[in-house]
Amino acid sequence: MPVPDSALSLRGVVKRYGAITAVAGLDLEVPAGTCVGLLGPNGAGKSTTMRLLTAQAIADEGAIEVLGYELPGESKQARAEMGVVPQLDNLDTTLTVEQNLIVFSHLYRVPRPERREAIERALEIANLRDRRHTRVDELSGGMRRRLLIARGLVHRPRLVLLDEPTVGLDPQVRQELWALIDRLRSEGISILMSTHYIEEAERLADTVTIMSHGKVVAEGPPAALVAEHAGGEVHEVYGPPARLAEIEAEAQAAGRRTRRTGTSVTIIGDFSGNGGPAADGVQRAANLEDVFVLLTGEEIA
Ligand code: ATP
Repeated sequence: MPVPDSALSLRGVVKRYGAITAVAGLDLEVPAGTCVGLLGPNGAGKSTTMRLLTAQAIADEGAIEVLGYELPGESKQARAEMGVVPQLDNLDTTLTVEQNLIVFSHLYRVPRPERREAIERALEIANLRDRRHTRVDELSGGMRRRLLIARGLVHRPRLVLLDEPTVGLDPQVRQELWALIDRLRSEGISILMSTHYIEEAERLADTVTIMSHGKVVAEGPPAALVAEHAGGEVHEVYGPPARLAEIEAEAQAAGRRTRRTGTSVTIIGDFSGNGGPAADGVQRAANLEDVFVLLTGEEIA
C-alpha cells in the first residue's frame, strides 16, 4: 500500500456527549515522519481526540483518516498498523515483562518467525532486557511506563499515539522517556503526543497544536508560535500579591498583555524604546508556556 503523506488527519471533526461538545470542529494533521504535540488545558478535548483516533469514540461529524484508512469504517486495519500507548497503565501485572510483550506480539499478529526478534527489540527499547523475567507488579513506575511504550511498538508501527506519556512521573524518569520518544522520532515514526508538560512539547514536537474548547487555537513549530504570539522577550516581575496586582493594572492600562503565575506577572511585548516596564523584575526570552497561557488563559504544569 502506498505510504500517505499524512500519517493521520481530522477534518471538521465534532464529538458531542449529550449537551457537551468535547471536540468542536477539529482540523488536525500529523505529516508522515513528524511528531505533533497536542497541548490544551483540562477538558480541551485531547483525550477525546485520542479516543476518536482509535475508534473508541465515534465522531458525530467530520472525516478521520489514519494511515490511509477511513475511520470508523476501517478502524481495525488502522489499529493493526498503529501503536497506542494509553495514559493509564493497563499492563497485566501478574505476567512478566517478556510475557506482556509476547501477548501483544500475538494480538498484533507479528508473524511467528519474527516474534522473537520483535520482543528482543522491544526489550531493548524499554531498556528492560535484564528484567525480562520480572513480574510487572515488581517494576518501578518508570520501568512500567517504558514497558507500556515498548509494548505499543512490538509490531513496528509507522504511527504511535502517546497519551500523556510522562504524566505523574518524576523528572528523571520523564527525561528517560523523552530520550526514548526522541529515538522513535529519529527512526521516522510518526507521533501524535498529548501532553500537559510544555517542556515535553517544546523538546519533542516538530509542531505543536494548542487546543481549547475542542478546537485548535494555534499550531506551528514551537519557536514560530512563540515568535508569533509572545514576541522575543517578555518582562517578568516577582513580588507580593498586592504589588503584582498593581503592576498588572499599570501594564494593562498601557495596553500591554499580561499573564499571571502564582508568584509573578509576565508582561508581554517589545520593550525597546517607549517607556519600558516596571523597574523591578527581569527580562527573559518568551517561551511556549507564555503562548499557552495567553491563548487559553490557563496555567499548566
Ligand atoms: P484533560 O487534560 O483533563 O485530560 P482533555 O483535554 O483530555 O482533558 P477530554 O477528556 O477530551 O479533555 O474532555 C473534553 C470534554 O468532554 C470535557 O468537558 C469532558 O467532561 C467531556 N467528556 C469526555 N469524555 C466524556 C464522556 N465519556 N462522557 C461525557 N462527557 C465526556
